[in-house]
Amino acid sequence: RAYLDRIKTHDSTLNSFITADADAALAQAAAADDQIASNNHTPFTGIPMALKDLLCTQGMRTTCGSKILDNFVPRYDATVVEKLRQSHGVIIGKTNMDEFAMGSSTENSAYFPTRNPWHVDYVPGGSSGGSAAAVAAQFCSAALGSDTGGSIRQPASHCGVVGLKPTYGRVSRYGLVSYASSLDQIGPITRTVEDAALMMNLIAGHDPKDSTSAPEPVPDFTSGLTAFDKNGLKGMTVGIPKEYLDMPGIDPDVRAVFDNVRTLMESLGATIQSVSLPHTDYVVAAYYIIAPCEASSNLARFDGVKYGFRARDTADLLDMYKQTKSTGFGPEVQRRIIIGTYALSAGYYDAYYGKASQVRALIMADFAKAFETCDILLSPVAPTPAFRIKEKIDDPLTMYLTDIFTLSANMAAVPGISVPAGFSAAGLPIGIQMMAGRFDELSLIRAGYGVE
Ligand code: GLN
Repeated sequence: RAYLDRIKTHDSTLNSFITADADAALAQAAAADDQIASNNHTPFTGIPMALKDLLCTQGMRTTCGSKILDNFVPRYDATVVEKLRQSHGVIIGKTNMDEFAMGSSTENSAYFPTRNPWHVDYVPGGSSGGSAAAVAAQFCSAALGSDTGGSIRQPASHCGVVGLKPTYGRVSRYGLVSYASSLDQIGPITRTVEDAALMMNLIAGHDPKDSTSAPEPVPDFTSGLTAFDKNGLKGMTVGIPKEYLDMPGIDPDVRAVFDNVRTLMESLGATIQSVSLPHTDYVVAAYYIIAPCEASSNLARFDGVKYGFRARDTADLLDMYKQTKSTGFGPEVQRRIIIGTYALSAGYYDAYYGKASQVRALIMADFAKAFETCDILLSPVAPTPAFRIKEKIDDPLTMYLTDIFTLSANMAAVPGISVPAGFSAAGLPIGIQMMAGRFDELSLIRAGYGVE
């Protein structure tokens, strides 16, 4: 009730939820009380959680931030949602997002922009901006987001909360509405690193319903967290990619936070090492081919026949498809479908998707090499703190370029975490990013716990 009261008072300003059903949440809370009364509880029983609105929830509207799914009510739960229900967590609502997770500011939502709880004239980041804002505003204890190129880590950084993108394959994508299937991962947005570890215990693991989920053993992500005290960094080797620091356009406040964390890590016993990721210059270009190509294929299913919105009064079937897609999808989604369709068309496939995939293999090799000598890599999350609402919305290319530090973890399929690390002169939160080798989320949790 306390969380629902906060939502009622403050979410009319912040707009972090697309759907918040208080009655449904209270019914789940009552069921959780019964579980507790019969001494049958888990760490999640009765804990209010928010879900990015691209996770399918049985019987609860799942819009993906799009008009095309405005009236879509899934008939099944995503695997992560099923796990949450089985442990009697409370789904307090579905959070706002950039349409189909395409964006970095939550301004591409077909519903409304979400505002940053630290300063309402600023964006919360994106695309999981609703989830990050909801956690920061204490509308829920934790939230789930998805990250295709930074959509968990970047809004977490801009909202002063923790965001963890697991290794590709660590968490089942079953019931996650796909954006770019080879890059998408679900992960937690929380107030502390310990909460992120707890959430990982809930959601990680192989799922026969997702053929890309990994049959990899799942550790207890919280085990030894008390032993991972502030000395958890002792003996770790922390790599600093030299290409990242030479990058033009890094805000001085972001740089200062980065330098502080580096000094802190050294004082906690980490060894700092300079490393090279030589293909960094190609990351944005390769990502913005691969992601739109996969999106154009995934979004072909929204044709007005099988799901949600259908344009009315159309001349024939072809016209119905055309009107449905051109009125159901917003401008950024249409832009990416067109880019992706073009790049995948006959005669262009090798030059674009094929070439970008080769570049991706080189980026993966850069990371594999770096992790031969380092436990984690340290980097900024974004080149600047949160920007003002509307500041970049008319300039998609500038918006794409702000993703430079987060895209690589998805391209290389490695885990990444964003941990709050300081503030800008204007009082906006700034996070720090750490990345680790595949399936080594424990190192991120340990290092994150050390610096938070
Ligand atoms: N900002 C990136 C994009 O627009 C990443 C989004 C995401 O991770 N879903 O594609």
